[in-house]
Amino acid sequence: MPKKIYEEIREQLVSIKDAGMFKTERVLNSAQGNEITLTDGRIVTNFCANNYLGLSNNPEVIKAAQKTMDDWGFGLSSVRFICGTQDIHKQLEDKVSQFLGKEDTILFSSCFDANGGVFEPLLHPESAVISDALNHASIIDGVRLCKAKRFRFKHSDMEDLEEMLKASHDCKYRLIVTDGVFSMDGDIAKLREICDLADKYDALVMVDDSHATGYVGKTGRGTPEYWGVTDRVDIITTTFGKALGGAAGGCISGQKDVISLLRQHARPYLFSNTIPPAIVGGVLKVLDMLTNSSKLVRKVKSSADIFRQGMIDAGFDIVEGNTAIVSVMFYEEPLAIKVADRLLELGIYVIGFCFPVVPRGKARIRVQISASHTEKEVQECIAAFEKVGKEMNILK
Ligand SMILES: *Cc1c(COP(=O)(O)O)cnc(C)c1O
Repeated sequence: MPKKIYEEIREQLVSIKDAGMFKTERVLNSAQGNEITLTDGRIVTNFCANNYLGLSNNPEVIKAAQKTMDDWGFGLSSVRFICGTQDIHKQLEDKVSQFLGKEDTILFSSCFDANGGVFEPLLHPESAVISDALNHASIIDGVRLCKAKRFRFKHSDMEDLEEMLKASHDCKYRLIVTDGVFSMDGDIAKLREICDLADKYDALVMVDDSHATGYVGKTGRGTPEYWGVTDRVDIITTTFGKALGGAAGGCISGQKDVISLLRQHARPYLFSNTIPPAIVGGVLKVLDMLTNSSKLVRKVKSSADIFRQGMIDAGFDIVEGNTAIVSVMFYEEPLAIKVADRLLELGIYVIGFCFPVVPRGKARIRVQISASHTEKEVQECIAAFEKVGKEMNILK
């Protein structure tokens, strides 16, 4: 007898497909990079990876990861507090702390886990979390796991944030939490104003800088550097899975007692395995590279500026911004998908983003620029968009 639930799961899948919301995965036949190979052998230029610094397949990073694996092994088979902490894990925590300008850092297998572990130990039922409406799913889930009261402010709306600070005045401690860079529009959180409000109402500030660490700010230290508020942000969570080599891993950085308490109580830290040595070695290398030179940071910024201006000149509707995420608006879902499909035929790999990833009627193609894109590749991307725009008669 087939179990009844399988039937229901099949029906759910059918209804996801019927609604046009079934996500399929295009399979790559190569390493991540500017040029990627599809399974049919076609080589296309990738403009939709979070590979902002172009380090996902960098030879120096790979070599460092290989060397670390040779020296320290493949895995630790342990959580940190039993026998899973090596010298290199402490080195990486120190280096991240220095890089982000914080006292201490705790490593996680992902930033999803970091966000899953950060709230519950710090915020008890008499406290409050005040969260931007467009925060990442992992922040939403992390907040769900804690017992603090929940407040949500309209996306980047400082008046609404102030309302929420007033509404939560009787809570013992308040924590304002925001993404540093919002992934769908590529806009930067108004951290200076957030810090001002936090001072005024005696709240803590937490920034998830996953889409910023490594390339936003003059030397790539992220949105606190961009706004000059490094000392005023209490907690930073971020990922190593985007600009910093793109493999995996994440962390929380902040004041040393906060980090010490998280080592005692953060559940994804206590009950999940240590990050493997190869990744630790690779990320250490990336941080060395970034500490020695900001060349890649400047490169991704200038390429993104060129792309953004080129697209505006071509007559596209671009979400205003100052990051390597450039969202090209098409509004109608089928149009965004059609344009992305046609661009792939022209050798440009991008994806149409539709509901529920973005609001209904706000379909777009999110282009992500990398420091490793050549100027020629950037220009070819603009030219391909322009060609499709003309074919489909959608330019302003
Ligand atoms: C990508 C992302 C995460 C998840 O990071 P992982 O290390 O891949 O788990 C968390 N928060 C934000 C804002 C992100 O963009």
